[in-house]
Amino acid sequence: MNCSLISVGTELLFGQIINTNTVYLSQKINLLGINVLYHNTVGDNPTRLKETLEYVLEKSELIIITGGLGPTQDDLTKEIVAEVLEEPLTIHKPSYERLEMFFKGIGKKMTDNNIKQAYLPEGSMVLQNDVGTAPGFALSKNGKIVICMPGPPREMKHMYNQYVDKYLREKSSHVIHSRMLRFFGIGESSLETELLDLISDQTDPTLATYAKEGEVSLRITSKRTNQEEAEKAVEETIDKVKNRLGTHIYSDNDEELIEVVANKLMKHHIGISSAESCTGGLFAAKLTEIPGISSVFERGFVTYSYRAKMEELDVKKETLDRYGAVSEKTAIEMVKGLKNNTNSELCLAVTGIAGPGGATEEKPVGLVYIAMAFNDEITCQEFRLRKTDRNWNRQYTVLLMLDMINKAIDKKKEM
Ligand code: ATP
Ligand code: MG
Repeated sequence: MNCSLISVGTELLFGQIINTNTVYLSQKINLLGINVLYHNTVGDNPTRLKETLEYVLEKSELIIITGGLGPTQDDLTKEIVAEVLEEPLTIHKPSYERLEMFFKGIGKKMTDNNIKQAYLPEGSMVLQNDVGTAPGFALSKNGKIVICMPGPPREMKHMYNQYVDKYLREKSSHVIHSRMLRFFGIGESSLETELLDLISDQTDPTLATYAKEGEVSLRITSKRTNQEEAEKAVEETIDKVKNRLGTHIYSDNDEELIEVVANKLMKHHIGISSAESCTGGLFAAKLTEIPGISSVFERGFVTYSYRAKMEELDVKKETLDRYGAVSEKTAIEMVKGLKNNTNSELCLAVTGIAGPGGATEEKPVGLVYIAMAFNDEITCQEFRLRKTDRNWNRQYTVLLMLDMINKAIDKKKEM
């Protein structure tokens, strides 16, 4: 089934409000396996609404209209739908009674124009408005379905979820099932190259990559006549992708890396402390976004200066003088000091050059050392980030720290 959306409202055309209804409905409709072909927006203008409706009726089987169902003069959606589909507006008794009750409830007299809201095209299925006054309706005629819902997003969403979703599921012959895999440590183009045969050869499931802030996601989608078949097809493809790129996947359920790591720390009761130089507390801030993290997060130091590294973490002055703050030796002394002072099961220390300044010949911007004490072992990794953007480097360094923790926990659990 194909669908077109029409949003009615002059304020949408003026740019006074953002058309959130279209975004919301498109996402929902696509999940049902119904293709959305057109987004249309028209003002409160009968001629143009009529033209638009006639146009989309030729192109699609399902038309969903939002807005213009209210009591005022400029609300004319119903009138136009009734005219185009040639079904007269008649009073719908239960809706009329609901309106009466509503006005009684708020102690106000119902004005004449409010009665207009109880008039609906003949033969339509009425969609009760549980959170507002204007009811919506679904009208099926000549192989086409026209659904009208009120404009206010709260009312529209409620009506959609309460009544329309179920109605459309019964009408739709397809279901769409999709899963999102999340990757770290592999670029979008490498990912595509590794999966090229899967991406280009298959029509179902389909694979689509998305890149964001140093991470890549892969959506695997199947459209079938029944849910089980779609799920099975998606699972089989996930297995294939995992066989090839398993080490880079940190979630097969569209979670953020921070969520994955925090959940593992909490699940296995692994106490953690951090000492940060170049990220200045960003790691600790990220970790503390997660509710419940206090059960494992012991403390976080921001040791920016030489003095802080010496006083808080017992880094030796000679090490700093000889190798510099951004060095493997310093990172390792930082993490050793952290471990001694906190005795947390997992300790992480980071030092690096975030940029844009501060670089030398042998120490470029983006040089980062992350040292970890975990599982009776101290490890340190050197990274060379290629960007000079200070903010990006700091954010990306936090992801590197999280990735290191994630892999270390996985490794320990495999042992
Ligand atoms: P009412 O009974 O409130 O008049 P209505 O069905 O007549 O409802 P409109 O008058 O078209 O709806 O819109 C009412 C309000 O709903 C708008 O002022 C706007 O705030 C919001 N709205 C309408 N359409 C949209 C949309 N597409 N996206 C987001 N908000 C919308
Ligand atoms: Mg209105």
